[in-house]
Amino acid sequence: MEKSVKNPSLENSPDMSNQTIEGLCEKVLAYYPEADVALIKEAYEYAKEAHEGQFRKSGEPYITHPLGVSYILADLKLDIESILTGLLHDTVEDTEVTSADINQKFGNEVEHLVDGVTKITQMSFKHTHEKQGENIRKMIVAMGKDVRVVLVKLADRLHNMRTMTHMKFEKQEKKSRETLDIYAPLASRLGINWLKIELEDLSFRYAKPDVYYALAEKVQRKRSERDQYILDVIGVLEKEIKLRTQVDPSIHGRSKHLYSICKKMEARDLDYDQIYDVLAFRVLVDNISQCYEVLGLVHSLWKPIPGRFKDFIAMPKANNYRSLHTTVIGPGGDRIEIQIRTKEMHLIAEQGIAAHWKYKEVGRGHQIDPAAMGQFSWLRDMVAIHQQTSSSDEFLENVKTELFDSEIYVFTPKGDVIEFPDGATAIDFAYSVHTEVGNKCTGAKFNGKIVPLREEMKNGDSVEIITSNHQTPSKDWLKFCVTSRAKSKIRNYVRQEERKRAYEIGKGYTEKAFRKFGKATSKYLKGPIFEGYLQENSCKNLEEYYILVGYGKINPKNTLEFLSPDVLAKEKKEIVQTDNYFKKALQGAFNKSKKSSSLIQVDGMDDILVHFAKCCMPIPGDSISGLVTRGRGIVVHRADCEKLFSTDQDRRVDVTWSVNQNLVDRIVRIRILSLDTPGLLVSMSEIFTSKGANIYNAQIRTNRDNKAICTFDVSVKNTSQLSDILKELQKIKDVLNVSRITQV
Ligand code: MN
Repeated sequence: MEKSVKNPSLENSPDMSNQTIEGLCEKVLAYYPEADVALIKEAYEYAKEAHEGQFRKSGEPYITHPLGVSYILADLKLDIESILTGLLHDTVEDTEVTSADINQKFGNEVEHLVDGVTKITQMSFKHTHEKQGENIRKMIVAMGKDVRVVLVKLADRLHNMRTMTHMKFEKQEKKSRETLDIYAPLASRLGINWLKIELEDLSFRYAKPDVYYALAEKVQRKRSERDQYILDVIGVLEKEIKLRTQVDPSIHGRSKHLYSICKKMEARDLDYDQIYDVLAFRVLVDNISQCYEVLGLVHSLWKPIPGRFKDFIAMPKANNYRSLHTTVIGPGGDRIEIQIRTKEMHLIAEQGIAAHWKYKEVGRGHQIDPAAMGQFSWLRDMVAIHQQTSSSDEFLENVKTELFDSEIYVFTPKGDVIEFPDGATAIDFAYSVHTEVGNKCTGAKFNGKIVPLREEMKNGDSVEIITSNHQTPSKDWLKFCVTSRAKSKIRNYVRQEERKRAYEIGKGYTEKAFRKFGKATSKYLKGPIFEGYLQENSCKNLEEYYILVGYGKINPKNTLEFLSPDVLAKEKKEIVQTDNYFKKALQGAFNKSKKSSSLIQVDGMDDILVHFAKCCMPIPGDSISGLVTRGRGIVVHRADCEKLFSTDQDRRVDVTWSVNQNLVDRIVRIRILSLDTPGLLVSMSEIFTSKGANIYNAQIRTNRDNKAICTFDVSVKNTSQLSDILKELQKIKDVLNVSRITQV
C-alpha cells in the first residue's frame, strides 16, 4: 500500500543545480545497464569544448543546457542516440562544429537526429499564419521520419522553459505562447502527460503571470485544508477496497494542475472558489477486471455525476491513453474525479510513446520498436497528409484539428469503435472507412435512423454509411467535415476533377485556336522547339500544357505565335480589315435583340443585366460562362472564349440559357473556304434562306492559288440550327472547309 499527496506549487520543476555528467550516466544506467557511458561522457566533453566561452543568460556555462536536456531525455528513458543528441543538439547551430564532424565522431544516426533538431530550432514560429503552417509542417515531417527528433526538441523546450527567469519579458511571453500552441499539444498527443503538464504550467506562468500567481496563491492558501481532505478520501477508499475486495491498490490524490484549473474557470466563467472538481484521485490496480471492480465500489460509496463516466479502457484515446474516469460527489458534497487504471496503463499514461520503447539491440545501442510507432496512427496520418497537401494553410488547419480537438467515439456496423474529433459528421466517418466509401456516400444511418451527410455524430452512435455509384464528392462537403483525412480526400478529388475538366477545355480550345490558323496541334505540339516552349513556361509535358490552357494560364495563340510567327501576322491584318463593317452589322443585330436578358439565367436569378460578348458571340446551345463587369452587369461568353481565361477567375459566374431560348435571333460568323468556282455564292445563300437564317453581311475574297474565303454574318436561333446550316454548306461541291468563327 502506497499513498501520497501532491500539490502544485510555485516551483513545480525539479532542482537542476546539481546536474553532472556522472549523474546523467547513473540515470541512464538505471534503466539501461549495458549503456555505453564512455560514449556519453565523450559527447559531453565534445559539446563542452565546443560551447567553451558561451554562457546562458543566467551566467552559467552553456553546457548546463545540453546536459539538462539529456537529463530530461533520461527521464523519458530514451536510447543512447537520443541522449547523445541531447548533449550535442546545439553544437551545429551555435558552434564551429559541423554535421560532418558529428557524423565522424558519433555516427550517422546521431548526425541525423542533431540535424533534425537544428532544423526545428531554426524554424522561427512567426506569428503570421502562413509561416506557422509551414513551420509545423516541417516539424511534423522531421518527426515523421524519427520521432526522437521531436522528443529531443520537446526536452530542449522544457529545459528552456524551466530556465526562463533570466529572459526578457517579451521573449518569455512569445516562447510561452508558442509552447502552449504547439509543444504542449504535441506532448499530449504523444501521450507524455507529465511533460505536457509541466510545459503548460510553465507557459501559463510566463504568458499570464498575473492570472497564474493569483490562482497559485489561492490554491496554496487552501492547501492544508485540501491536503486533509485528500487524506480522508484516500483513507475511505483504501479501507473500503481492502474490506470488500482482494485488490491491493495504490492510491494518489492531487489537485489538478494550475493551467487546467484556469481553463476550467475560463470555460465556465467561474471563480476558483466555485470550481469544485479540482481534486483528482488515481487508483492503480493490477488488472483490468480489478479496474471495474473498484469502479463499482466507488459508485456504491459516492453518487456518480451523470455523463461524467468515461471508459477509456474499452475505447482508448488516440494517444493510447487507457483508464476509467468518473466524477462523484465525495465526502462533504465536493465533486471529485477518480481515475482507475492498471499500473501498466499508468506507465503509458505518463510516459506515452516513450513507454513503448522496446529496447531491441541494434548495433551498439538499442532502438525503438517500430511496432510502438504504429500505435500512434495519427502520426502516420499526419505525414501522409503532408505529402498530399499543397498549401501550408491547409496543412496547418489539418494539424490543428488533429492536435487539439476533443474526441467522440462511435461504433461501426461491426461493433468496432472509431474515434473522431468533436463535430465530426457522417462524411468524416465515410472517409475513415475507405476513400471510395467517402467519395460515394449519399447519406447515413445513425442508430438505424436515416440522417443527412452533414449530421454530426454523437458519442456512442452506431453509424452506417449509405453509398451510391452515382454520387461524387462536392466542394460543399468541406463545410461539413472536420477530420483532415476527409478534407484532404475531398480536396484531392475536387482538384483532380478540376484538372480533368481543365485538360478537356484546354485541349479543345488549343485545337480550335490552331485550326483557326489552319494548323494541326498534332504537328506543332511536339519536337524540340515545343519542348523548349514548355520549359520556358515551366510546364512538365503536353498534358500539363493543356491543363494550364484550361485554367487560362497559357494562351494557345501565344504558343502558335512562338512556334510559327508568320501565320499569326497574316491573320491579324485580315481581322483589321473586316473589323469595321462587322461591328456595324453587330450593332443592328444587338438592337434587334434587346431582350437578351430573358435568354439567360444567372444562378436562377431574374432581372440581371446581361450582355453578350462581342468577342465570341455565343448563341443558344453554346456552353457559356458569365463575367461580372463593373456597371455592365454580366457579360456572357462562350465557355472556351479566351477573354474568359485572361480575366480574373473570381469574376466568373455560372449562367445557363433559359428555356425560351428560341425567341431571339443571335448573330454568328461563318467562314467558308472553297475553290473559286462561279455560282458557289448563290448555292450558299440558298442554304441560309432555306434554313431560316438572315444574312447580315458577307465578304468574299479570293487569293492567288485559286481559292475563295467567304465570311458570312448570319442570324440564327441556336446551335442546332447552326450545325444544320454548317452541315449543308459542307455538302456543296468545291467547298473545302466550313467553320464558325468564335474569336473576333
Ligand atoms: Mn537548446
